[in-house]
Amino acid sequence: MADKMTKAQRHYCMSRIHSSGTKPEIRLRRALWHMGFRYRVNDPRLPGKPDIVFGRYRTVVFVHGCFWHGHQGCSLYTVPKTNVEFWVSKVERNKVRDSAVWRRLEALGWKVVVVWECQLKKAVFEETVLRVKDEIVSGGKEYRERIALARQLREKSRKERAERKARDKYFSQEIKAKYSR
Ligand SMILES: [Zn+2]
Repeated sequence: MADKMTKAQRHYCMSRIHSSGTKPEIRLRRALWHMGFRYRVNDPRLPGKPDIVFGRYRTVVFVHGCFWHGHQGCSLYTVPKTNVEFWVSKVERNKVRDSAVWRRLEALGWKVVVVWECQLKKAVFEETVLRVKDEIVSGGKEYRERIALARQLREKSRKERAERKARDKYFSQEIKAKYSR
């Protein structure tokens, strides 16, 4: 765990984490910060401007409101009784946009983690933080493995090229020797 704070600073931070008036997303961020993870917030360079970006782990986290992003089967996703069609189509559009963003991020090699607002309620907050932590760690592991594999493949093809070149050179010398007599 990264910990370079003074006792007073830490006490202040911890008190902020547990203070009830804090936005759930910020509480999540702070909890992860205290576990030693560093991140950028709302990075405009990435598709969908992900809420929390863990560059070292090639992982992004979206914190989604259950209503606006249509959390299926969730009690917080209840469509208002009036203008049903309007709300349903609005939420459906958001969902389509969300999954397009996730696909684009995944195509760029990012692991995408979605945290629903209901998963940040006090009773399940800690469980969610631990789940997200595991996802970030495994995202980082997968990323490092992909980099290592790509490096191996590059090295292999570089060797093959060098071998081919040496072979071609040898044969062309042999042919020259044969016919130049
Ligand atoms: Zn929900």
